[in-house]
Amino acid sequence: MVTLGARMAPQIVIVGGGAAGIGAAGSARQVDPDARVTVYTEYEDAAYSPCGIPYVHGREIADFESLFLQGKEAYERAGIDIHYETRVTALDLGRRRVTVEGEGEVPFDRLVLATGFDYADPGVPGSDLDGLYYVKNIRRAMEWDRVLDGVRVAVVVEASPLGLEMVTALAHRGIETHLVDPHPWLLAEAADPDIMRPVEESWAELGVKMHFNTRVAAFVGDRRVRAVGTSEGELPAEVVVVCTHKQPNNTLARRAGVRIGSTGGIVVDERMATPVEGVFAAGDCVELPHGVTNIPIQGLSGSHAYAQGKVAGSAAAGGTRTYQPVYVPWGMVAGKWMIGGASWGSRSGPTSWPWPSRPG
Ligand SMILES: Cc1cc2nc3c(=O)[nH]c(=O)nc-3n(C[C@H](O)[C@H](O)[C@H](O)COP(=O)(O)OP(=O)(O)OC[C@H]3O[C@@H](n4cnc5c(N)ncnc54)[C@H](O)[C@@H]3O)c2cc1C
Repeated sequence: MVTLGARMAPQIVIVGGGAAGIGAAGSARQVDPDARVTVYTEYEDAAYSPCGIPYVHGREIADFESLFLQGKEAYERAGIDIHYETRVTALDLGRRRVTVEGEGEVPFDRLVLATGFDYADPGVPGSDLDGLYYVKNIRRAMEWDRVLDGVRVAVVVEASPLGLEMVTALAHRGIETHLVDPHPWLLAEAADPDIMRPVEESWAELGVKMHFNTRVAAFVGDRRVRAVGTSEGELPAEVVVVCTHKQPNNTLARRAGVRIGSTGGIVVDERMATPVEGVFAAGDCVELPHGVTNIPIQGLSGSHAYAQGKVAGSAAAGGTRTYQPVYVPWGMVAGKWMIGGASWGSRSGPTSWPWPSRPG
């Protein structure tokens, strides 16, 4: 801490520069303008909208530059010290230190974990081949966009929300697009088949080939992928877009002994506090109670991540914001349709957090 008159200004370290990390940084400075806020991110950038990436690929949004919300200098002006392309490799919660690649040990008074998500490992041979595209970092998306210019046939793995967006984007680009999904229809875990049929029909008009009830068995190729082996046979592919489910990136937290819940997300209370004093977490790396069922869920949207980050940053700086259980409204473009949903039960859901305020 730095002494300011009689008061100590806290050192708040945030791991992650996505929606949750940036939300946390801004809110911590709002609550305590003297707080020293340092953000570490592995990426080259912080303030951009990953949600727009599929729409640049599909040419509905003109360019990647439009996805940047503000320049890096805006954070400097706001007193937020962002270390780009800088990986945190370990947490020592007892000694209140993070280990940072190239910087050594960095002390903190409060820590916010906002390490986001990873795509579930397809777990099949050939997962290390070139030509497999995991849509995430905008700089890689810019590189992949140029690759897509020369692609004639592509396979999208799994009809997750991002999978739906990428199928539409590739089809709009005139690429012969195959979707491989183990379920009997699109978004089968969230929607009924009659809801999704118009989307499938509009994709068929665009020439999309849908392979339902089909499992990926292997990515086939020497150094570069040339096909996807499936339970129904082999599909040629110059590029494979892997859109498997989002999983919490909990590696640092797990190794440091922070409590991980049944979904793999970090367990937090309504202040986004973990059971470790002074350690908070937000975004796709945490799990939260569903507003209707109380069942822990993870892998929500960027809007949730940002709002949770705001709560975590506020709490880290001594504020009093809280977060409510989630009802998961969602909406997206698929084919030529806008689809969406929400959850509700026959009685009203919980109005307060179902877990004790400091989960043990
Ligand atoms: C292609 C795409 C489309 C999307 N579409 C939508 C949409 O339509 N609507 C919507 O609401 N949301 C959308 N999202 C948002 C998304 O799904 C997430 O919910 C959101 O990105 C979660 O934010 P986060 O801050 O928790 O994690 P992330 O955005 O994943 O950020 C994680 C951060 O942690 C950093 N990090 C991780 N480990 C370390 C480490 N060890 N050291 C240093 N830094 C580390 C990373 O560099 C990164 O800055 C989309 C995302 C993508 C990629």
